[in-house]
Amino acid sequence: MSTSETDEFEVMACPCGAGLVMKYVTTYENAWSGADTTYGISCHKCSKEWSAGRGHLTHLEDDRANTSLFRTLMDAEDAITKFMEPEIDAYFANPKFRDMAKVQREMMRLSLSPRDIRNFRIGRAQGKRYSELCRPFKNRSWLTSLASGVGKAEELSALCDAREAAIAAYETHNVRKIHFPADRR
Ligand SMILES: [Zn+2]
Repeated sequence: MSTSETDEFEVMACPCGAGLVMKYVTTYENAWSGADTTYGISCHKCSKEWSAGRGHLTHLEDDRANTSLFRTLMDAEDAITKFMEPEIDAYFANPKFRDMAKVQREMMRLSLSPRDIRNFRIGRAQGKRYSELCRPFKNRSWLTSLASGVGKAEELSALCDAREAAIAAYETHNVRKIHFPADRR
């Protein structure tokens, strides 16, 4: 059993001013363990509203909303990929691309952010679809041309609008943070 010792430091007053943000540094007697640093808020109200981490407080509700907006965006992107999967896979299965490097290069030309060639090959070996090895939703006009040929343009357009709205909501959402004053050790 190793023994440890924890030192407490005041970082700053909590946001409402009734308590303190504390830093706890635990050091261990055995030489191979580094010190552990954790933070806490000694105020009941603020500890429910904020989390203390390295360098700043993060507003918990803002942070949860941010995670939820990010998930909405990921879901909107997945919905586009799934909806257009047959057309995307047919496009890249065209024998004119001949090998995986050429498929990957075509994805780059279309700005679809394909995986790098090594991971592209690994993905194909694992049975992944072409639509899973890139980000098809990044090129709306290319997808629209694929969708138009099969009567899916209108529905695709609604999915792409939903993605753009999700990006705007995610990017404009602000997560309140309060930075700690310069660390005094
Ligand atoms: Zn407080």
